[in-house]
Amino acid sequence: MAPDQEFTPDDHQYRKLAEAAPAMIWVAGIDKQFEYLNSCWFRFTGRLQNEELGFGWTNGIHPDDLNRCLSIYNSSFDSRKEFKMEFRLKHNDDTYRWLVTHGVPKYGNSGKFEGYIGSCMDVEELLETERVRKEFIKAELLEREQALNEELAATNEELAAINEEQAATNEEFLAINDELQTSRENLAALNNELEERIRMRTADLIESEHRISSMVASAPFPIGVYEGKEMRIVLANQSIMDVWGKGNNVIGKTYSELLPELINTGIYQQLDTVFTTGIPFHATHQRVDIEINGKLLPFYFNYSFTPLHDSSGQIYGVMNTAAEVTDLVTAMQQVEANEENLHNMILQAPVAICILLGPDHIITLANQLMVDLWGKPVQEVMDRPVFEALPDARGQGLEQLMKDVYAGKSFKASEMPVTLLRNGKEEVVYQNFVYEPYKDSNGNILGIIAITIDVTEQVLARKKIEHSEAELLLIKAKLEDELEAGRRLQRQKDDFIGIASHELKTPLTSITAIVQLLNRKLKDHEDPFIAGAMGKANVQVQKMIGLINGFLNVSRLESGKLLIEKQLFDIKDLIIENIDDIKVTTAQLIRMKTFNSIEVFADREKIGIVISNFLSNAVKYAPMGKHIDVNCSKIGNFVQVSVKDEGMGVKQEDLEKLFDRYYRVENSKTKDISGFGIGLYLSSEIINHHGGKIWAESKLDQGSTFYFTLPIN
Ligand code: ADP
Repeated sequence: MAPDQEFTPDDHQYRKLAEAAPAMIWVAGIDKQFEYLNSCWFRFTGRLQNEELGFGWTNGIHPDDLNRCLSIYNSSFDSRKEFKMEFRLKHNDDTYRWLVTHGVPKYGNSGKFEGYIGSCMDVEELLETERVRKEFIKAELLEREQALNEELAATNEELAAINEEQAATNEEFLAINDELQTSRENLAALNNELEERIRMRTADLIESEHRISSMVASAPFPIGVYEGKEMRIVLANQSIMDVWGKGNNVIGKTYSELLPELINTGIYQQLDTVFTTGIPFHATHQRVDIEINGKLLPFYFNYSFTPLHDSSGQIYGVMNTAAEVTDLVTAMQQVEANEENLHNMILQAPVAICILLGPDHIITLANQLMVDLWGKPVQEVMDRPVFEALPDARGQGLEQLMKDVYAGKSFKASEMPVTLLRNGKEEVVYQNFVYEPYKDSNGNILGIIAITIDVTEQVLARKKIEHSEAELLLIKAKLEDELEAGRRLQRQKDDFIGIASHELKTPLTSITAIVQLLNRKLKDHEDPFIAGAMGKANVQVQKMIGLINGFLNVSRLESGKLLIEKQLFDIKDLIIENIDDIKVTTAQLIRMKTFNSIEVFADREKIGIVISNFLSNAVKYAPMGKHIDVNCSKIGNFVQVSVKDEGMGVKQEDLEKLFDRYYRVENSKTKDISGFGIGLYLSSEIINHHGGKIWAESKLDQGSTFYFTLPIN
């Protein structure tokens, strides 16, 4: 539509009004193009009519607002709706100013749509005013926020964020006409949000309070909170109630009401001091006697009283935390007692003991025996390194030894010689040592425990004995040598006797034959001397034969050549034969008890030697005796033969030895009786070879009885 288009009277009417209006008026045709703008518009934009009409006016719209404006404009136009929109339009001073335009559809008299008519208002100043107001409101809001912030110190940051949000909201407010209203609504919304946050925060606080309470309640160590100077219990967990042992009904009571037994322990004062000064109090391993079921029982605690401050910094109460350490303290006391026991044990031990601590082996504990051993006054040695206290003990290998023990190696030694300066005198003492590492309960080596037994006396005594023993050994060796020499001599003697007897036997047999022949021939000689002499010569020759046979038999015995040739014979006959042979040589009456014949299985000749030996000894060693009694009897499976005389007898101690080779009792009575001490030896060997027994019973000066037994078969 052209600007010079004709107007209807109504249009003129409008135009007049429009020109007079204090606002910017625009008219658009049905093709949406501006066909009229009042002079207020042109004054505002400073542009010409032809630049603004049509769609030229849109060139002045701020590029950021253009699309929105056109969209509202077009859509309103199409739907014929009244619209209101805000946009920035370029002012004649080249700045953009906010305008609010209000467009309404225009209809002709016939009701025909003719386009739009609208007004535009410069709201920049209004907005400025509003902005100032907003600022003011904002300041007010901030103030309120601050008040809220103070209330909720913990949510300060959140509030700042909200303030920013609010600021952003405020910005938006600037863009709209009814910003104040909106901002109030936003504020209300904000308030709601804040209230919501406060509610949430309060809920959080309640939750965290709940958590703290449940944490306190379930804490495995005692916690109690007391409020006010009178220390009223406001919080106590199960653990502290268990410690108090006064049941669970404690909240609201004062500390002194609950625990009157602590009145003189200083605990009330400690609590009061913490409450008044704000300085926390800590106690360790403190004994506290608490009355449980009417009985005052000792407990040990590590406990703390911590002041509690309210938000204004005022102390309103005291928190009591504690850890019961009764078991620990009891264990520590036990350890101390054990240590004391150990010390006492060491001091009273019957052996010398000392404890040397640390790498310098400081003499820390030593009993009197040990001090005596060192031979120094106790005050000179105690609490000093051992080699400083006992310099004389240096250089004997003990330094390295102790180092090794301190490194964990036990040491034991017997009869170790140590040179010590005892009471000013250098002495060698012999000691049995046991050095053990001295450990704490964790096995850490603290030092050395040394146990020493002085064995000097024993060692010296033993050395003496050893010396004597050595001497004895020498004597023994000498004696053995002598014995061996004696044996050698004996062997030579035996050999000689053997050879001599053997050599003598042949000529003696010839002599015997001659003497017996002569004896027979000269028996009836008129010269009685010759007749008697040959008889005597015969007796002596028989004796000599007996002797030589004896020696020969011993010699055979020694060389193992004594033969036992057994036969069955009557022992009674053998006894009678031997009695007959002997009775011609003695004046004693040989009596024989009557007994039956007893047959034995034995070597007749050798048993004859035994009987003959018994009889000849009875004759020899009982020259003053009157009777010789011979007996033979059967006892069980044995035959027992005995020969009893009334002679000189034998002392008890000699009895056993009579059967030893070459043994002869030597006394004044026997010194003129000849013999070689082989008769009984040979007899005992013969009887032993037969499995019999031989023995003698005798009393000095009262005669003797000699026995032997033989198995019958
Ligand atoms: P011998 O008679 O040749 O000395 P024996 O062996 O026959 O040797 O006797 C050993 C010792 O026993 C004798 O020296 C003697 O001291 C002692 N003896 C033996 N028989 C008797 C006895 N009947 N009475 C006392 N002493 C006897």
